[in-house]
Amino acid sequence: PNLYQPQRPNSMGRDLTDPMALQALWSAREAFASKTWGATSLLANKSEGGATQSLFNPATPTQPIGHVIWATQTDVAQAAQAAKPWSVPAAERAKILSKAADLYEENAAELFAILAREAGKTLIDCEAELREAVDFLRYYAAQAEQDGDSAPRGTVLCISPWNFPAAIFTGQIAAALATGNAVLAKPAEQTPITGWFCATLMQRAGVPATAFQVLQGKGADIGAALSALPTLNATCFTGSTATAQTINRAMAQHAPADAPLIAETGGLNAMIVDSSALPEQVVRDVLASAFQSAGQRCSALRCLYIQEDIAAEIKTMLFGAMDLLEVGDPWAKSCDIGPIIDTTAQKKITDYVAKSKILKAISAPQSGCFVGPVALEVTGIADLKEEVFGPVLHIATYQADALPKVISDINATGYGLTFGMHSRIDSRVETAVQGVQAGNIYINRNQIGAIVGSQPFGGTGLSGTGPKAGGPNYLNRFRATPALLDLD
Ligand code: GLU
Repeated sequence: PNLYQPQRPNSMGRDLTDPMALQALWSAREAFASKTWGATSLLANKSEGGATQSLFNPATPTQPIGHVIWATQTDVAQAAQAAKPWSVPAAERAKILSKAADLYEENAAELFAILAREAGKTLIDCEAELREAVDFLRYYAAQAEQDGDSAPRGTVLCISPWNFPAAIFTGQIAAALATGNAVLAKPAEQTPITGWFCATLMQRAGVPATAFQVLQGKGADIGAALSALPTLNATCFTGSTATAQTINRAMAQHAPADAPLIAETGGLNAMIVDSSALPEQVVRDVLASAFQSAGQRCSALRCLYIQEDIAAEIKTMLFGAMDLLEVGDPWAKSCDIGPIIDTTAQKKITDYVAKSKILKAISAPQSGCFVGPVALEVTGIADLKEEVFGPVLHIATYQADALPKVISDINATGYGLTFGMHSRIDSRVETAVQGVQAGNIYINRNQIGAIVGSQPFGGTGLSGTGPKAGGPNYLNRFRATPALLDLD
């Protein structure tokens, strides 16, 4: 076993099943109900600044939430030139990153307002996002301090996704900074305000401007320009498999030969439910795995296999529970499922659903980028040709003796991110755990929401290049020479 664990507690967060805690948070967020934000790049030198774009709430597309000023190609070149590794002792960097974690917690209400308005996040998702961001900061800070001084790679490019615009944005940057690199970070083009807001908190904590610069831009121009820089010593990317491949090609052409791509990408994640599973527990965990965050997690459950003997019962219960989900504006306390990130993504999902065999569909508000949770019938995971990034659950049934075939079909997708199983028969669990190639395997629980430090997150095959984020081997990838870990 790997016992290497930096000493620090996970964020306590708030218990949102406690009505008092929920009310307090809700009231605090209310102070920002009509605020708008202006997101910019944050560069060591003055930014040239390009076009300004207005930003809107995906739940209420007529509601402006602010604007972003995009970076220019000149900004990219100047940022690359100004970038300087953060050459203070590891303990000093750790102190500043821990201070940033405190500032994140102090500014939770405004962060939650931004996450709701810009990324359509419900309160529960906001809370999870804040906890994970804070955990990443403290975990990597503690680990870097424990490891002591080591040589950084140099300049690290961090490109993060809109679905975790605070947590993954922060996690990538925290890892690269804790190890003393110079960071060039590009927040997702759909969530520039969240990236800008988190970055200003890290700056306020004391991260110097030459060690950490933020460039606002679209993947196709600023992302492409950044990944073609000849001075990159590593890139850390979370997003689609196709984009990871594009970045990999650009780096192969322009970056030094030893510069790694640390990628966490897509998944076609399955769950197997056998006849010994507890139906109520299955329903609860399938709802969370497939539909929380409107299914916009790379870890989300996409294909549920139910053993034939209990399929009718599970489906009846699951569809009944789906009827109770509230789809709408995440500003409402009672909202379960918020919007899809934008109209392009929404259309992709609805077009896909329109061509599929629908078993159960929940209606959603007509205005706004909503898609109601939907269950589709498939014969098996081989019917899924692509990752559909929304609240779309495919359901297949299988005969007990077909378990090995189900496992080999899951592996044949080429992805390997999360896998779930509900069963009370140890030998079957063992067969699945040994057989399925996936980074994160969850038994008798939901399969989303990996916790920093105890559930390092990342996939194999088409799902990523490892090492896992929030785990003991991650920081070494950001170092020129690995620290010697105290591993068994
Ligand atoms: N780490 C997240 C989870 O465990 C998923 C990250 C992602 O969607 O990129 O649910």
